[in-house]
Amino acid sequence: MMILIVGASAFAAMTGIALYLAKRLGDAESRLRAEGSARAQAERALSDQEQRLQTIFESQLECVKLHDANGTILTMNRAGIARLGARCAAQVVGTSVYSFISPEHHERYRCLSAAVFEGRSESMEFRILCAMGQRRLFETHVVPMRDSGGTIVAALALTCDITDRRNAEERAQRHLSDLARVARITSMGEMASGLAHELNQPLAAIVNHASACLRRLRAAPDKIESVVESLEAINEQGQRAGQIIRTVRELVSRTEPTKTLVDINEIVRMMVLLSTPEAARQDVTIAMQLAPDTGSIYASKIELEQVVFNLIRNAVEAVGNPGAAAHASISVSTMRTQHGGIEVAVQDCGCGIDAEDIDKVFDPFFTTKFDGIGMGLSISRSIIEAHGGRISVSPNAGKGVTFVFTVPPPMEERMAV
Ligand code: ADP
Repeated sequence: MMILIVGASAFAAMTGIALYLAKRLGDAESRLRAEGSARAQAERALSDQEQRLQTIFESQLECVKLHDANGTILTMNRAGIARLGARCAAQVVGTSVYSFISPEHHERYRCLSAAVFEGRSESMEFRILCAMGQRRLFETHVVPMRDSGGTIVAALALTCDITDRRNAEERAQRHLSDLARVARITSMGEMASGLAHELNQPLAAIVNHASACLRRLRAAPDKIESVVESLEAINEQGQRAGQIIRTVRELVSRTEPTKTLVDINEIVRMMVLLSTPEAARQDVTIAMQLAPDTGSIYASKIELEQVVFNLIRNAVEAVGNPGAAAHASISVSTMRTQHGGIEVAVQDCGCGIDAEDIDKVFDPFFTTKFDGIGMGLSISRSIIEAHGGRISVSPNAGKGVTFVFTVPPPMEERMAV
């Protein structure tokens, strides 16, 4: 009996344990199933993500590639392969980026690659030698590609073919400089009589001083000191005439505009000198207020001369208009901006610009003049913007308008300010 009782309770205990274990097993199984489905979901998400990245990678119209620290290409999208003129990925993957980059850019690309593997993002332009032997200009932006632990495992390069864009920019630049040159020649033609007058003055002065020298030497051949002053005046006037001729030659020459350090005050002085005869003909005086501390700026002298010349000529024409004040004057001033660049203002008290036209004056071919071409301000704006500056016009409180342009300082000065 006793045995039976003990056996029954042991059985009940065993059953309890079995039930408990079965439940634990069931729980573990359902946890496993849940984990399994979570893993499957994560794997699906990962594969979706991979698919998405692959689609983005392949759908890029420009070249996207990964390369290692030595420049060995690890992968490249279809557009990149096509840009290189290769037929398939196998022709490119595993080869070196240096077999495509033109040799003169190898050193810079090596530096760029080293910087990227130190964690920086870098950009540069280089020429590429395509499979068909063509040379194309590329612009690349390269960033470090890291694994989940943060280690840089590759360089990711996004590279665009900028050959066509650069050619178009160069064509536009050539077109602008041709246009600007034609505009300068046209203005010089219009000013020919004024210039002849401007040159006549130093020439007449030279002749007078030379005659005085001759007279004195004939009267007293051994008194050389009596002619020194006149000879100095001859020298000075000769220099002045030479400077005028040099400036005119520069303005009509075909030389490409190149940037050098230029003195804006000197440019203003010369353009005022060239414009004075025409202004005088219209009874207009030109005043100058030149700040002594403008320093030098990095610019194309001939192009800035053209802008200043255009603005002065327009101002003279505006105040010289019928109905404008007699004996009018315009003023040209220079100042240094707080960022170390320069600002030039040409102020007149002329006819002004109608409110509805003020936004149009810089448009090509906008003119209100009977014989105007409407290119002066448009060319001026292109020139100033190509120098990284701005040009604008605003009405004066009284009569007339003020045109103002700025040119920023050279990059190193900008960084120092
Ligand atoms: P154009 O002198 O051949 O007309 P611009 O491009 O130099 O060409 O000037 C465009 C127009 O802007 C002029 O026709 C004139 O209407 C206006 N303008 C330019 N400067 C002035 C000024 N100082 N005062 C009034 N109007 C001006």
